[in-house]
Amino acid sequence: MIICFSLENFKMRITGNMVNYFFVCKRKLWLFQHQIGFEQTSERVMLGKLLDKTSYQGRGLHHVMIDNLIDIDMVENWQLIHEVKKSNALEPAAVWQLKYYIYYLRKKGISISKGLLDYPRLKKCVKIDYTSKDEEIMENYISEIEQICKQSTPPKPELKSICKSCAFYEYCFS
Ligand code: SF4
Repeated sequence: MIICFSLENFKMRITGNMVNYFFVCKRKLWLFQHQIGFEQTSERVMLGKLLDKTSYQGRGLHHVMIDNLIDIDMVENWQLIHEVKKSNALEPAAVWQLKYYIYYLRKKGISISKGLLDYPRLKKCVKIDYTSKDEEIMENYISEIEQICKQSTPPKPELKSICKSCAFYEYCFS
């Protein structure tokens, strides 16, 4: 499903993935935003898409694409959104990606204030509440994301535990 609105106060087009990468790795954020894209070939990304496809049989609106920018896994009655995660851990990256979708929808006048992170492999979901404080925090994060993306060169690679499963690993360390 594709929906288009206009949102004037966004300076840069920021996707949910960019918010996620901001927490995971700032270099990954920069590489992604500059379209140095290896993610589509990553097995983990393919697995995520597969889990997503099998998780919501017969419920809500699936893959709601807004402004050709943010792709929400599922929306229920425009009151609750879902984001499917393949990992086993509740991470700030996932929480803030979901909150970014809520933030974006609220800026469009849709007064959603909660979402669910779905972990199909664990057969559990985690409710995330969006509070009034989150808007200010989110805007600070958006501002930082913009600053990173505007840099002419990417942040230096730093080896982390997630690097070996990152689609950019060879690009960063070979
Ligand atoms: S391999 Fe590591 S340093 Fe490079 S983009 Fe991925 S997470 Fe970041």
